[in-house]
Amino acid sequence: MRKYVIMGVQGSGKGTQSELLCTELDMVHISVGDMFRWHVQNHTKLGAQVRRVMAAGELVGDDLVQATVRERLDQHDWNYGFVVDGFPRNRRQAEFFMEKYDIDGVIHLEIPDEEVRRRVLSRRLCPNCGMDYNLIADRPRERGRCDICGHELVTRPDDTPEALNARLRDYHEKTRPLLELFRRKEIVHDVDATPSPDQVQSAIRDVLGLPPHKPGE
Ligand code: AMP
Repeated sequence: MRKYVIMGVQGSGKGTQSELLCTELDMVHISVGDMFRWHVQNHTKLGAQVRRVMAAGELVGDDLVQATVRERLDQHDWNYGFVVDGFPRNRRQAEFFMEKYDIDGVIHLEIPDEEVRRRVLSRRLCPNCGMDYNLIADRPRERGRCDICGHELVTRPDDTPEALNARLRDYHEKTRPLLELFRRKEIVHDVDATPSPDQVQSAIRDVLGLPPHKPGE
């Protein structure tokens, strides 16, 4: 069983890379952002607690985040392992996580801020089935409509220039320094996140010593 964390600024492709890894290798993708978005969309009590903070691009309180992650991992549906995406994002979260779980590797997706701005501001999401698109690299076949379910695409409420600036600032101030913590344990694998998704996935498999990626399967 393998336990990984994927780190990188928003828009570095964490979600896409985690999905490719998990679908092909039967692992579970645990995205804290996706879990929160589900709660917001479904108007749960937790959704009401996190909605405003998320829309502003700020970080949700540690206690709430830790409880959400603990509850998710306690389901133990990850026989072949998991990839945690979007967590930990600060020192307190990292300490909580390292106390509880033995992490085999941290995948660090490296990408310049200008490329992040370009990608994030052209990102679109299907609020119905969760499929995401990018108007530069991965356009929907019909403008503004989901290829899978035909629903109208939307912009994530936190993909505005203001919210993106807040997230970039938080990432550089709070999240990036965690890499040093993980580097001391010699579990960080740096991967260039600027090539195509398939190329990035192949590089990840390579550094982690996992079976090769088979594009299109
Ligand atoms: P993401 O999809 O990872 O960009 O997460 C979307 C939003 O969810 C973030 O901007 C935060 O508001 C919230 N969030 C996700 N993960 C965390 C975390 N580990 N700590 C605090 N807030 C988080």
